[in-house]
Amino acid sequence: TTPGGPRAREEKIVVTIRLRPLNKREQSSKDQIAWECTNDHTIEYRPNPHERVVQPTTFMFDKVFGPDSSTETVYEDGVKTVALSALMGINATIFAYGQTSSGKTYTMRGITEKAVNDIYMHIINVSFLNLLHHHYVNAHLSYLHNFGVRDNQDLLNSESGRNLKLLDDPEKGTVVEKLVEETAKDNQHLRHLIHICDAQRQVGETALNDTSSRSHQIIRLTIESTLRESSDCVRSYVASLNFVDLAGSERASQTNAEGARLREGCHINLSLMTLTTVIRKLRKRSGHIPYRDSKLTRILQHSLGGNARTAIICTLSPASSHVEQSRNTLFFATRAK
Ligand code: ADP
Ligand code: MG
Repeated sequence: TTPGGPRAREEKIVVTIRLRPLNKREQSSKDQIAWECTNDHTIEYRPNPHERVVQPTTFMFDKVFGPDSSTETVYEDGVKTVALSALMGINATIFAYGQTSSGKTYTMRGITEKAVNDIYMHIINVSFLNLLHHHYVNAHLSYLHNFGVRDNQDLLNSESGRNLKLLDDPEKGTVVEKLVEETAKDNQHLRHLIHICDAQRQVGETALNDTSSRSHQIIRLTIESTLRESSDCVRSYVASLNFVDLAGSERASQTNAEGARLREGCHINLSLMTLTTVIRKLRKRSGHIPYRDSKLTRILQHSLGGNARTAIICTLSPASSHVEQSRNTLFFATRAK
């Protein structure tokens, strides 16, 4: 394959970029557009005449989505095959990485909804068309809020689901102690459960001044599916499908913080740096993979590497005022590919 160009479908780590439109605030402050998607794989820095040009100005990835791309397109072209692999017993993780306000949550919510629909639709379609004879799917949801940095919080257990500890289970690997797994009755029920957790998260965020930018949010679906491969062969699969809305990447580079904020910054730095190293080593298929260096990579260990599939969506603001952070995000994305 060409560097950064389209890769075979079976590639295990897919890295994509999503460039959002200028928002109202950026528009009203007459911020300029500094980035342009020049084709499906390339994003370019287009400095204004008075700006100093910093190299490199061109970055290439598996897929680049511009400000006109819908979340539907991002899902279909960037995430779908990764998400649906969970129906075949293959663990999968979808990340959103980027600075605060670049569109991580906006993108992840849309992607999660589409993936959930697709998983159930897929079952209906294939059994209807009698192709794969999928005849059963059972999904269990867990929803971790403020993970890894503050008080690991279980949004399905508002009573006692706080400050949850990580435990090492001989079979399952690292698990979150007492984390509730709610079984969904069907598509609608699952979307309803996620929606309730999202709403709860939003209340907390408004009260606490955007906590989500300072921690990771993890939705995990455990999917059991049963596939009838022939009249006398029924096969069952279990896989985890993780949707990870990462802490704002700018937190990792904040050096002027103090006290609690500094500690948070260090934690985020550690987890995002460990994630980068883990992905880079998986990509190179080389050496020891330092999963155990951060809580985030510990609990995702079985869904990263090995047979697992990963999609990373790096979100960017197009504004000149954010060039530095956008560049950092593109460097992360480059290291991951
Ligand atoms: P983050 O989670 O990275 O901090 P958000 O997802 O909250 O960022 O996005 C910040 C704002 O930008 C929100 O108001 C969101 O609706 C808007 N936004 C983000 N991405 C897009 C997009 N691709 N198209 C339109 N609006 C977007
Ligand atoms: Mg967010």
